[in-house]
Amino acid sequence: MFDSLQDRLGSILNGLTGRGALSDKDVAAALREVRRALLEADVALEVVRDFTDRVRAKAVGAEILKSIKPGQMVVKIVHDELIATLGETQVPIDLNAPSPVVVMMVGLQGSGKTTTSGKIAKRLTEKQRKKVLMASLDTRRPAAQEQLKVLGEQTGVATLPIIAGQGPVEIAIRAEQAARLGGYDVVILDTAGRTHIDEPLMAEMAEIKARAKPHEILLVADSLTGQDAVNLARSFDERVGITGIVLTRVDGDGRGGAALSMRAVTGKPIKLIGTGEKMDALEDFHPARIADRILGMGDIVSLVEKAAENIDAEQAAAMAKRMQSGKFDLNDLADQIRQMQKMGGMGGMMGMMPGMGKMKDQMSAAGLDDKMLKRQLAVIGSMTPKERANPDILKHSRKKRIAAGSGTSSAEINKLLKMHRQMADVMKSMGKGKGGMMQKMMGG
Ligand code: GDP
Repeated sequence: MFDSLQDRLGSILNGLTGRGALSDKDVAAALREVRRALLEADVALEVVRDFTDRVRAKAVGAEILKSIKPGQMVVKIVHDELIATLGETQVPIDLNAPSPVVVMMVGLQGSGKTTTSGKIAKRLTEKQRKKVLMASLDTRRPAAQEQLKVLGEQTGVATLPIIAGQGPVEIAIRAEQAARLGGYDVVILDTAGRTHIDEPLMAEMAEIKARAKPHEILLVADSLTGQDAVNLARSFDERVGITGIVLTRVDGDGRGGAALSMRAVTGKPIKLIGTGEKMDALEDFHPARIADRILGMGDIVSLVEKAAENIDAEQAAAMAKRMQSGKFDLNDLADQIRQMQKMGGMGGMMGMMPGMGKMKDQMSAAGLDDKMLKRQLAVIGSMTPKERANPDILKHSRKKRIAAGSGTSSAEINKLLKMHRQMADVMKSMGKGKGGMMQKMMGG
């Protein structure tokens, strides 16, 4: 196994004790190591390039948290970007369609298509109580249809009776009819593979898709194929169109590079991973776990997260205390706005709170968006410390000066002051009494 990225970055960046923001130089040195780590994890070159460009854009100028080294900060940014690229959330197989829902499995020969069909069928039957029918459309390999039948018997899942001489499209149509008549919820079509991507294979897949109208088209790919995974995913997605990816043999590849490459190239979610030959060796795909594998450094990430949490908690506690004493000046408002920006702005924050979708629309209709947060910070930034602590002294001439300094208008400043007054009133009433609602909200 390669040295952890942590060690390597450490040796480069331990010398740097720079505080404040990450410089071009810090980032460039760290990114050289990140690039190597990604290549060693078998991420495709073009994906590595795109990825490091994105990280560079995010990292240069980023604020370095207290008690964290610049190299560690870069790793945290890389980690977060990895998760964002891999897809933040787990995406299940989508069965939201009229029954029978057709799921088509595509991929190269030997990738684990048939095995995965059986695994998925078993899972849907046992865990989601679906009535599943499997059909093999592989008429090229003599034993393929038989193999699926045996799998069906092993797992207790029905398979379409084999009729010799039928072509793939005929079988697909027959499977759909049988499923309709038999009251099945799901039909899994296990298609034929080839040893490599070629036009006849793609044409066959496209034709089956056109006739069988699958709701899900899952590309089954061997995680050990590494670099080839990119071409594979791109070809299948462009030519046939896929809705998701299942990565197999993850048990044999601890590196996870194929996951990143395929997801980055297609933008399609990795839905499941195969972790062994047994029929229950199928797991949901968790972006964070793969990101940790790729970087091999969960410890740095949690260190940085802790540091971030501590700072937030310190700030929140201080804020809660001030509010309890009835104080909420423009410095506090600026803190709040920054906190909001950190949490992904208005959109991000509202997205995290259940039932806030409607409010989010209303807020953006009222112009209360992330651009506005920035302007508000500019307004507060143009005030003197005295004005921030005591907004009541803001009269006409001061407002004019602040408007000029922040590139806004007196009207905008008035709006901010009004919002501040309203918030201060609410905070005061909420902050009353120990263990008040506000204190709980702020984690105090
Ligand atoms: P197909 O040609 O794409 O249908 O591939 P198969 O389903 O026949 O699988 C080929 C081989 O890979 C079989 O020996 C499977 O047991 C094995 N296999 C499939 N998925 C996995 C997996 O997730 N991990 C491991 N270790 N082996 C797997």
